[in-house]
Amino acid sequence: MNLSKEIADIEVIKRVGACADKLGLEAYVVGGFVRDLLLKRPSKDIDFVCVGSGIALAKKVADSFDHHVPLSVFKNFGTAMIKLEDWELEFVGARKESYRQDSRKPIVEDGTLKEDQERRDFTINALAISINQATFGELVDPFDGVRDLKRKIIKTPLDPDTTFSDDPLRMMRAVRFATQLKFDIEPDTFDGLLRNASRLEIISGERIVDELNKIILSDTPSYGFKLLFVSKLLHQFFPEMVDLQGVDSVGDKSHKDNFYHTLQVLDNICEFTDDLWLRWAAIMHDIAKPVTKRFNKKAGWTFHGHEDKGARMTPKIFRKLKLPMDERMKYVQKLVRLHLRPIALVNDKVTDSAVRRLVYEAGDDVEDLMNLCRADVTSKNPNRVKRFLANFDKVEQKIQEVEEKDQVRNFQPPVSGEEIMKIFGLPPSKTVGEIKEEIKEAILEGQIENNKEQAIQLMFKLAEAKGISKKEN
Ligand code: ATP
Ligand code: MG
Repeated sequence: MNLSKEIADIEVIKRVGACADKLGLEAYVVGGFVRDLLLKRPSKDIDFVCVGSGIALAKKVADSFDHHVPLSVFKNFGTAMIKLEDWELEFVGARKESYRQDSRKPIVEDGTLKEDQERRDFTINALAISINQATFGELVDPFDGVRDLKRKIIKTPLDPDTTFSDDPLRMMRAVRFATQLKFDIEPDTFDGLLRNASRLEIISGERIVDELNKIILSDTPSYGFKLLFVSKLLHQFFPEMVDLQGVDSVGDKSHKDNFYHTLQVLDNICEFTDDLWLRWAAIMHDIAKPVTKRFNKKAGWTFHGHEDKGARMTPKIFRKLKLPMDERMKYVQKLVRLHLRPIALVNDKVTDSAVRRLVYEAGDDVEDLMNLCRADVTSKNPNRVKRFLANFDKVEQKIQEVEEKDQVRNFQPPVSGEEIMKIFGLPPSKTVGEIKEEIKEAILEGQIENNKEQAIQLMFKLAEAKGISKKEN
């Protein structure tokens, strides 16, 4: 196959080819860029491989411009990078790798193009296009990568046990590419996942979660999670999610499978948002169901308190998965803690005070919370779904009404602690905190409006009841 037409317009590729010719080096575009070119997925990263020094080629390319172009050289790795307009160009010499049992760190030596292609993870990632003038555009495809692109298949170039045990991260990448590209994993390669899943233990959490987040950010992350589950990779790093799977029955009473429910909620939320953390909230929302599950004859299966327990589990799981422990974790935790509140609201009566409290607690995340709740409706009964969604409409309308009246979204106490101390000549004390708290409660309950005048009035009443009088000046 010749792809010279497909790459003819990409000036930078021709330039690298010309530089390689001057140095007398064979050079190729390789890996993800070639795959994406054939799939017609635009990409801005190009990896170049040459048989010889990748660094020398990169230097030659950088020098070929009249103006300065930023070149980074990573001597230890034998690689170099050039950033050019919106292109990111990587240069490396062809290499072969051999691995030891206990480490991801390979012993690297110079190699041929074929050896370089062999060490790549999948047949579709092992394609190379020649860019020297004499052979410009010729595809080098020793493992039938083009066939696998057509068949939509993820397959290792070598025996899967070799590819996966050499670098177990490739198992996560197999699932990640299958999910992003909507490909199947070829049966032998899949068996390789099953056989080598436990080898994931030598991979750092950061690298695993990097791939996991790419799966979560794909169009249909449920597909990736199902693959992770059946290949048992998920068991290696996220056992709490594995525990969601399964249905228990007592007599004719059974509960739903919370793993598949969670995956549906995750797919549903993807229709609303590309935000990674809202997607994580969907993954985590029922995480405590297995540990809070109880059965009694009257109520059947219950998961009381799973929202609070789930919120408490969130930091532990985030820490273990090497996810950030900052406000992003707090956001997920908050949504997990509040995810039942809008439903509880519509089951009772939608009172102003309950809505006000919800807005107060959720703050600016109240819209995300409502979207999570909508995504959480996975009933197969269309009437039930309709009723739930209509009820959420009602809650949202009420949120707007309450917001127009009282601004409690980013609640700032209308009377500050300092003011209370000054007016009554009080030192910092429990009493000051109590007065502040009671004013806030009165606002949330709707007993007073959220403004200074009414807050001050109430403050005097509260002080009087506590036997505190205004400081005489
Ligand atoms: P994307 O950039 O969308 O993640 P990509 O295929 O370009 O996809 P990169 O991680 O950028 O992936 O890697 C570039 C190329 O390097 C891959 O196409 C593959 O040939 C090779 N590669 C990357 N990581 C590995 C690995 N762990 N094992 C073997 N080959 C790898
Ligand atoms: Mg890439």
